[in-house]
Amino acid sequence: MKLRFVIKRRLLSFLMLLSFMVGAVFGCGKNNNYKKTEIVDDNYRNYYEIFVHSFYDSDGDGIGDLNGVTQKLDYLSELGINGIWLMPIMPSTTYHKYDVIDYMDIDSEYGTMDDFDNLVEECHKRGINIIIDMVMNHSSSQNEWFLEACDYLRSLEDGSQIDENVCPYAGYYNFSKEKKSDSWYQVEGTDWYYEAVFWSEMPDFNLENDNLRKEFEKISDFWIEHGIDGYRMDAAMHYEDDDQNATIEIMNWIYNYCLSKEPDFYMVSEVWANKATIAAFYKSMTPSMFNFPASGAEGTIEKAARGQINAEGLVNAMIDYQTIYSASNEDYIDAPFLTNHDQVRVANNLMSDENDLKMAAGILMTMSGSTFIYYGEEIGMKSKGSDDPNKRLPMNWSSTDTTGICDLVEGADSDVEQTFAPVDEQLIDESSLLNFYKKAIELRNSIPEIARGTISKLDDLCSGDVAGIKRTWTREDENGDFLTSSIVVIYNTSDESKEVDLSSDEYDGLKIVGYLTVDDSNIVLDNDSIIMPGQSICVLGNG
Ligand code: CA
Repeated sequence: MKLRFVIKRRLLSFLMLLSFMVGAVFGCGKNNNYKKTEIVDDNYRNYYEIFVHSFYDSDGDGIGDLNGVTQKLDYLSELGINGIWLMPIMPSTTYHKYDVIDYMDIDSEYGTMDDFDNLVEECHKRGINIIIDMVMNHSSSQNEWFLEACDYLRSLEDGSQIDENVCPYAGYYNFSKEKKSDSWYQVEGTDWYYEAVFWSEMPDFNLENDNLRKEFEKISDFWIEHGIDGYRMDAAMHYEDDDQNATIEIMNWIYNYCLSKEPDFYMVSEVWANKATIAAFYKSMTPSMFNFPASGAEGTIEKAARGQINAEGLVNAMIDYQTIYSASNEDYIDAPFLTNHDQVRVANNLMSDENDLKMAAGILMTMSGSTFIYYGEEIGMKSKGSDDPNKRLPMNWSSTDTTGICDLVEGADSDVEQTFAPVDEQLIDESSLLNFYKKAIELRNSIPEIARGTISKLDDLCSGDVAGIKRTWTREDENGDFLTSSIVVIYNTSDESKEVDLSSDEYDGLKIVGYLTVDDSNIVLDNDSIIMPGQSICVLGNG
């Protein structure tokens, strides 16, 4: 046994040496020949957003579940994903589960706490971090806290005020004798009203309440003990709708509490707003806000992918994000994405144009920070209309093998036609969108400067349809020394091939370390210049 292992290992190192020599002489056949120096274990990751209900059903009841996610971790790992975001998994009254009944349990539709522990363990075995949706703006109206508070209000005699010493839960929510706006609802059988901005059955929390904060600290202890690596904070900008500073303080409090329990804790917040507002919330000194201005049909990435803004416009936007966000928090980690569960899918926005979809993936995977892919985006899945259930359709694994394929959620249409093939067919098609995603993620994973490097514009490489940036990454090694490395990324967002002159001294000694072309053609460096095919991205470095 031992001997066999030694022989196997020697054979392996011989083969590795051989392949290295062949690679060195002939150049690698793959379009990414960057020398993989280190696997960087930090919070710059490629996340995959999973709506568990529609992802993979392990027990045949038609509802996706945690064990189904576990069964598909190898698929995600092979895609290059090293983080997953689970949309809400806690007991709830709705299919989407954004109204939480119990913050310290798993909804029985999805499985058990044991299933969750197993999922976490299997994630970590594969180097995948797991973050969960934390819905801290509101609870379900069926949450025990709210039910008890309402019972207490019903027991109050006319004219008496709330005494939190008698019922602490009455302080967890916003109650008033006055109906302050249309988003205030009457507590049945009383003359009290409660605030519920999103839906009458989602009462808003009063996060200024110390007892409630202690509950969320306990809840955080619970999930951190169960191995989570972070939170995705739902509706974070609404914690205190009329008071931005108070909301910023709440974000800062919960993040610092979690950080005190888990030093690598990650947090990404939903601040669905323009970049100035996002920048304001970065003053919470929490790591990430989703980059909504880059996302969606009117966002920078999709516009650049369909040629509505050119390459120079794209890099100007990237620099703009960097300037405005880093001014609030220089340690910010941007969180770009194409679409999420609330948005029309990118395949609809880009009219199912495969090249444009590949370009969108390429741009996303060369942006700063932690990227987020919404399940199904990698195979070009489509949504239908503006109703949420149709943005959350069952993952299209196969058209021949129905194993694990989930039923439609309530309200979803059964007649949404998919333009692109399911996973099983795209996996064996070298030029599929799915395999393009794999290449793009591999490029990002193998060149750490892409996610982490500070951007500066290379004016001599910018001519409208073509634009170049330099990314410089400085980090501290284990001896406390600072290491700096940089790469050059060049975009051609037009449909035509463009020659890029690299004869300036600044580019001396640079080699092509990776590239993405939507038509799978090659990019070669010849006499200090490269020909970039239409819709391509090229990365140069010291190799
Ligand atoms: Ca199931």
